[in-house]
Amino acid sequence: MPGSELFGAEEQKEVNDVMGTGILFRYNHDAQRNNIWKAREFEAEVKKVTGAKYAHAVSSGSTAVSTALAAAGIGAGDEVIVPPFTYAASVEAVLFVGAKPVFAEIDETLCLSAAGIKKVLTPKTKGICLVHMCGGMANMDEIMPIVKEHNLVLVEDAGQAFGSSYKGTSVGLFGKTGCYSFDFFKIATAGEGGVLVTDDEVAYKLADSYSDHGHDHVGNNRGMEQHPIIGFNYRISELHAAIGKVQTARVPDVIRRNNKNKKLLSELLSKTEGISFATIPDPDGDSATFLNMLLPDTAAAKAVVDEFNKAGVTGFNYWFINMYHFINQWDHIKQLKTASKLAVEVLGAPQDYNNLELPKSQEVIGRLISFGIRCTWTEEEVRSLAKNIAACVEKVLVPVN
Ligand SMILES: *Cc1c(COP(=O)(O)O)cnc(C)c1O
Repeated sequence: MPGSELFGAEEQKEVNDVMGTGILFRYNHDAQRNNIWKAREFEAEVKKVTGAKYAHAVSSGSTAVSTALAAAGIGAGDEVIVPPFTYAASVEAVLFVGAKPVFAEIDETLCLSAAGIKKVLTPKTKGICLVHMCGGMANMDEIMPIVKEHNLVLVEDAGQAFGSSYKGTSVGLFGKTGCYSFDFFKIATAGEGGVLVTDDEVAYKLADSYSDHGHDHVGNNRGMEQHPIIGFNYRISELHAAIGKVQTARVPDVIRRNNKNKKLLSELLSKTEGISFATIPDPDGDSATFLNMLLPDTAAAKAVVDEFNKAGVTGFNYWFINMYHFINQWDHIKQLKTASKLAVEVLGAPQDYNNLELPKSQEVIGRLISFGIRCTWTEEEVRSLAKNIAACVEKVLVPVN
């Protein structure tokens, strides 16, 4: 699954271009840089893969989400609906722009559900930070009417879903702004990096300024121009962008290979009684970085993971393995523990975070076991993995005695 699976000469060449000039900064130094602009080229590749009108690279997926929220107009005191199943960064980003997270239920898509969103809507709801999880996507046909009807600001955290689409549109392009992560574990990596996308020129310009101390980057000489807004430093370096560029160009091919392996693996596993799969609202748009298997209940999933550990099969249940993706492992967030003080503490929390009722999310995550799909697997490796998985599941669900 990760971009780090395919890594070599092309990455070295791109990095060497930058090393040859010594210009590691994405702006200025026109004379010395020998026309090498890796951040711009990285952004161009992201636009090619996604079809976005604007793309802006930043230092991480996390800073991309912060920037996306701010550029979409979300700030202090705004209530933003978030899922309880995501990498914690989505919730941290909401907190760090001064907004108030409101947790809503996910469903078998592993993403926020329309029913879950409707249940927590209040007149104070300003937006949704919709997270497309595990390489798949949320059910946009059900979610978009709610966004429109209630005039909400939609920001998509597609940190795990770069290259995924829903009915022909890339995830990240349904809302005002969207973002992708290029950390070491994602389908394409820059080492560290993130990219924000939007079709909205105003949001793009705000994002561009926000992520570089408010500079407007008009003209050639960064530093001497205007500062329309207050910003901060979320810039990407040319070295990271150089790697991100190569890795991004490779994504369509990686997705094809992932899908081939995932299809075979799921076909083989569907023969085993008791195994079903998470819902993918548009299977044709799946980046296929994960196969998400659902067991009949939480106890069965735990017992199967125990069997996996004995058999050396790498499958994880987010409930029992501390991967920091489900709210049951977020005591520090629920208790709002920080080094200082968050806006939500001063302004008042919209929910009692320590006593949230999210039975549907618990049920789904408790039953879920995910496998990272590797694009480099051979057919033999997929068949052997399927056999090992099925054997572990059968041991639990059909006890021999
Ligand atoms: C990885 C991830 C992030 C954070 O990205 P970084 O590049 O590691 O900062 C944010 N949201 C989701 C859903 C992610 O999976």
